[in-house]
Amino acid sequence: MTSAESREAGPAESGPSLATRTITSGRSRSGNSLAPVLWASTAFESSSIAEARKLATTARPERFYSRYGNPSVAAFEEAIAELEGAECARAFASGMGAISGVIFALCSTGSHIVATRQIYGGTRQLLEGPCARFGIDVTWVDGTVPGEMAAAVIPGTTTLVVAESPANPRLDLVDLDELGSIVGPFTMLDSTFATPLGQQPLAHGVDLVVHSATKAIAGHNDALLGVVAGERDLIDWIAGYASLQGATPSPYDATNALRGLRTLSVRLRQQSATALALATFLESRPEVAAICYPGLASHPQHELAKRQLKSSGGLVTFDLVDGFDAGAQFVEALKLAMHAPSLGGPETLVTHPASTTHAALDPDLLAEVLIGPGTIRVSCGLEETNDVIADFAQALAAL
Ligand code: PLP
Repeated sequence: MTSAESREAGPAESGPSLATRTITSGRSRSGNSLAPVLWASTAFESSSIAEARKLATTARPERFYSRYGNPSVAAFEEAIAELEGAECARAFASGMGAISGVIFALCSTGSHIVATRQIYGGTRQLLEGPCARFGIDVTWVDGTVPGEMAAAVIPGTTTLVVAESPANPRLDLVDLDELGSIVGPFTMLDSTFATPLGQQPLAHGVDLVVHSATKAIAGHNDALLGVVAGERDLIDWIAGYASLQGATPSPYDATNALRGLRTLSVRLRQQSATALALATFLESRPEVAAICYPGLASHPQHELAKRQLKSSGGLVTFDLVDGFDAGAQFVEALKLAMHAPSLGGPETLVTHPASTTHAALDPDLLAEVLIGPGTIRVSCGLEETNDVIADFAQALAAL
């Protein structure tokens, strides 16, 4: 067991470890069923007018109309709240549903957002497109430079600080203590890459933690949903907007996600072990110009990673020396790893953004979003580590 793994499996602040809580949490609505119970109903019968009136005027009723709340969704929310050490959580139809729900619940025309430029492309598009159209101003900062986030806050005007760590795609980190100590605006961290087992943003003073639960939390590429956790009042406020926004998760997806959560700890352990071995292998290869993995001593924020990440995670990003053509050729030469735009599942997945998702951008714009012509992002799966490395070795040899 590596030191990262022993930290991951270690005790939570009090009581059972987080790994154990992935097994015990979110069970209160399933009776004595071991598997989470699926409540497929979109509506629930009320026994009287008085009861219906009460449900219609309650924040987040669970058995009234499933756009407001649903027992299967509530079970998933309960589990995430417990794992994040939060009072409350609200699930959404996707990670982007959660991110846009937070932004539009908290910001109005004239609001100002500080956002780290190391961020998922969809979040960036949301902040540059719809937010600008609705008169919400955004200041972009480098989240890896100490003090930049706080320095960009305009007292009385900045409503929200949006950050992501480890960030998509280059695994840059934001110092969570620094984010949590910003005074004035709400702070939100996209913690998708870390999972609730990898870091605990709320314990650092961050107000809201969001996840694309589509990824490692659900973990099997069969559920699309997102979640945000924080203080009850804040989550209730966001939920009030969210039920009108309508980005409500399906109870089928919430049930799959809760089932997937049960194995998160062992999946994360295996994926991070493979990621470290793969990153170490790639670092030694002449075809590789740069490698990003927070668990490697060569990562510029390795010391911060050791302080705040309990697991370095299953994502590895690297740049091929020969750029664009080599990137496309490499992806096509892989035999075991699959070419698909997601992460955190059982299959090792790769993407070459410059030839696919970001193909329309010119090199300057690509550099701005921290993607080079030969950048490859890898999400390590659950195959044997040696098989993954052998696959990458043969694809590099084919270049
Ligand atoms: N946040 C991060 C870091 C992501 O990688 C993604 C998707 O890849 C999202 C948010 C959006 O999640 P979803 O696809 O569930 O909307």
